[in-house]
Amino acid sequence: MQEPQKNISLKTLNTFGIDVSAELFSSFNTEEELKYLIELNKNEKKEVLILGGGSNILFTKNPEQWVWQNCIKGIEVISDSSNEVLLKVGAGENWHNFVLYCVDKNWGGIENLSLIPGCVGAGPMQNIGAYGAELKDTCHAVECIERKTGQSKTFTAQECEFGYRESIFKQKVKDQYVITYVYFKLSKNAKVNTQYGSIQQELDAMQIAEPTLKDVSNAVINIRQSKLPNPSELGNAGSFFKNPVISEAKFKSLKEKFPQIISYPAANGNVKLAAGWLIEQCGLKGFRQNNVGVHSKQALVIVNYGNSKGSEIWELSEKVIQTVKDTFDVELEREVNIY
Ligand SMILES: Cc1cc2nc3c(=O)[nH]c(=O)nc-3n(C[C@H](O)[C@H](O)[C@H](O)COP(=O)(O)OP(=O)(O)OC[C@H]3O[C@@H](n4cnc5c(N)ncnc54)[C@H](O)[C@@H]3O)c2cc1C
Repeated sequence: MQEPQKNISLKTLNTFGIDVSAELFSSFNTEEELKYLIELNKNEKKEVLILGGGSNILFTKNPEQWVWQNCIKGIEVISDSSNEVLLKVGAGENWHNFVLYCVDKNWGGIENLSLIPGCVGAGPMQNIGAYGAELKDTCHAVECIERKTGQSKTFTAQECEFGYRESIFKQKVKDQYVITYVYFKLSKNAKVNTQYGSIQQELDAMQIAEPTLKDVSNAVINIRQSKLPNPSELGNAGSFFKNPVISEAKFKSLKEKFPQIISYPAANGNVKLAAGWLIEQCGLKGFRQNNVGVHSKQALVIVNYGNSKGSEIWELSEKVIQTVKDTFDVELEREVNIY
């Protein structure tokens, strides 16, 4: 294993393409290497930042933390029956490649999550979701190592307290564990889910009447490619904001003022609003401020048009939050992790 490196640029390691540098940087390929870093850090006593694919991170300054990049690989079949398969997947595996691997084997449950950037290990952090599916639907357990002690701990899916872009790893045990492996239970006779968004429309356009998992995956890929900016061409971290969840009473009064408001039912009788719609109504879709802007096709996405600083992206996100607050009295929350 390489010794820790000093002053390493993270520009290519975050999808916003922000040029910050890590004072101290290491990567680990195995649990043993991770435990070695934990031992070293008993002397260094530094805060640690775990990096996956850097696709849900905004660096607003050079991180003072010791950056540890998770590169644990491997997809292992733990059990295999006629109905389902249980997999143990290294946290450093690329998420989309893992989805394609499963789709090719005809193991169903994550095909709607095709083309989400980043690594498998970050998936449980915010319970990644798209097109009517969430990681929690197939996640069986999450294996971790405690950052301070190096001890192993496995969280069952229930213990992960998954919610909308939420989990215990962003709340109660924030910054306490490194996720090393994620276990998934996938179905061998899965029914495809084509009800959400424009999947069915896309399948119709592809002239597919009885879609396979591969067809659904391809449809999702097509839709995402047509809507979302490719980070290798235009720096971004996907949806910058979460869809806000408000009470039914508040929703009723908003609906009176804004009859077109887009909403979805949420847990406990609450209502989820489409943050993209709110931002668009404020006239901010396509808005540009120097090198940063709100994407012209998807108002939830903030983009880096050039060599912008993380602080400029932060400032634009503040402007968006304030404008939505002034217009709708609704508080947007950032989905992206800020460092
Ligand atoms: C174009 C685009 C589209 C996107 N679309 C979606 C979407 O549809 N749905 C969705 O949910 N997300 C989406 N995202 C966001 C992002 O892809 C996901 O959140 C992804 O899971 C982040 O993975 P990552 O490896 O890049 O995490 P990183 O950005 O590296 O890390 C994210 C957070 O998780 C922590 N972390 C990462 N790995 C570990 C680990 N092993 N142990 C402990 N902590 C860890 C980091 O410290 C950080 O706080 C999109 C992003 C982009 C750029």
